[in-house]
Amino acid sequence: MPDARLRLAPSPTGFLHLGNLRTAIFGYLTAKQLRGHFILRIEDTDNKRRVQGAEDSLIKVLAQLGIKFDEGPHIGGGYGPYVQTERLDIYQHYAQKLIDSGKAYYCFCSQERLEKLRADQTASHLPPRYDRACRRLSAKEIAQRLAAGEKYVIRQKMPTKGEITVIDALRGAITFAASDLDDQVLMKSNGIPTYQLASVIDDHLMEISHVTRGAEWLPSFPKNILLYQAFGWTPPEFIHLPLILNKDGGKLSKRQGDVFVEQFLDKGYLPLALINFCVLLGWHPQGDQEIFTSWTDLISQFDYRKINSSPAIFDLDKLNFLNGYHLRQLPTEQLAELLIPYLTENQALTTEKFKKEFNFSLKIAKLYQERLKNLNEIGELSRNLYLDQLNYDPALLVWKKSTPAATIEALKTVINFLKNYPQADWETAKLQTATMDFLQKNNLSNGDHLWPWRVALSGLAASPSPFELADILGQTVTIKRLRRALQSMQV
Ligand code: GLU
Repeated sequence: MPDARLRLAPSPTGFLHLGNLRTAIFGYLTAKQLRGHFILRIEDTDNKRRVQGAEDSLIKVLAQLGIKFDEGPHIGGGYGPYVQTERLDIYQHYAQKLIDSGKAYYCFCSQERLEKLRADQTASHLPPRYDRACRRLSAKEIAQRLAAGEKYVIRQKMPTKGEITVIDALRGAITFAASDLDDQVLMKSNGIPTYQLASVIDDHLMEISHVTRGAEWLPSFPKNILLYQAFGWTPPEFIHLPLILNKDGGKLSKRQGDVFVEQFLDKGYLPLALINFCVLLGWHPQGDQEIFTSWTDLISQFDYRKINSSPAIFDLDKLNFLNGYHLRQLPTEQLAELLIPYLTENQALTTEKFKKEFNFSLKIAKLYQERLKNLNEIGELSRNLYLDQLNYDPALLVWKKSTPAATIEALKTVINFLKNYPQADWETAKLQTATMDFLQKNNLSNGDHLWPWRVALSGLAASPSPFELADILGQTVTIKRLRRALQSMQV
């Protein structure tokens, strides 16, 4: 059996969105499952939609996620060029072959004629379709019109009757009526091939064994197979990946918010979480396994034959859950390292300062590791720790079962206690034990004392415990904040 060869064939028309990433992951995993090669081919024949930099960004992002290619425009290989606009003479050659064998024909119809035809068909509730006028031209007329330099496109000659049955790896046999197939354009008048022609030629010449592409290409599938037959080539195995829908059942689109992989990475979603999320968009692993911790883990479990054919639902809550899970699995030192840019960006502190104060970042990582859903949240969660002065409503200092007078007394007690507390033991666990002992011995209420202490340090109704906050802030800042809180209640 020949080696498995799979390709990712993106059009550089925008930045990588999660749908493309899912296609890339399934192609890559199938290649690895079959111990084959994974190839990058850039489908850039649609110049109008080309976005500068999209190709480089795609390669960079995929590399960041651990998807490596064995061949491609950036690394070369034995089947190049890997960029379609560098292969135009190849497409010309094969289009001519189809003309010569009578499987395709020149079409000289003007844009105006085609537009009128379409308008008439729409008005009569007919599907818009080319009426095959040029399919009936005589050889002599064709020769004359070519010689006169008339503009033309090349169209595929579809069968006029019967059925065509194609096999998809996930859906089995699918039958289409030949009468539903349009004589599609293979070569445009500017000499540029359409996706339909170029992808078939490239997949054949690059010896692609399995095509993993989105289910939105299913309607073109019979046309592709007919093209393979017209050339006398054996088609690869086709695996049409399920559509990805929003929770409301609509197609996943950028209008619904963030869909670009770069945006998720910038917000502090871990590559592993994004991969874990995407792989579940259409694949149901054996034993309901939901968490994957590495590519090796995935490659050993993945089987493209187990991909579902019904649409997958894009659920952001699931992504948050998976990212939270993978964030919790990180060694805290690594999380602290990852948090530095988010802390510096949000707090306008320099990276240098954070490098010096790695311990500070480490404490924050410890404090928030359990509840973070993405790295970007750290700015909001920890903002109050950096401010010189907190702004909050002093009424928040009063615990719901307490009174302002009791809160003033409690703050004084806490300040006195912490002033005399040994600096060497200023650490969460020790602070907690000592405080609880102190409150108990003096018959003081926990709520009355711990609540205003915590609010004085965080300024928030919900936050980590006063001991954890005091540990991060240090003795001086802690006492300073408690004093300010006291003052705010005494005015
Ligand atoms: N260039 C096509 C796209 O970006 C590729 C489809 C395919 O994989 O064949 O949608």
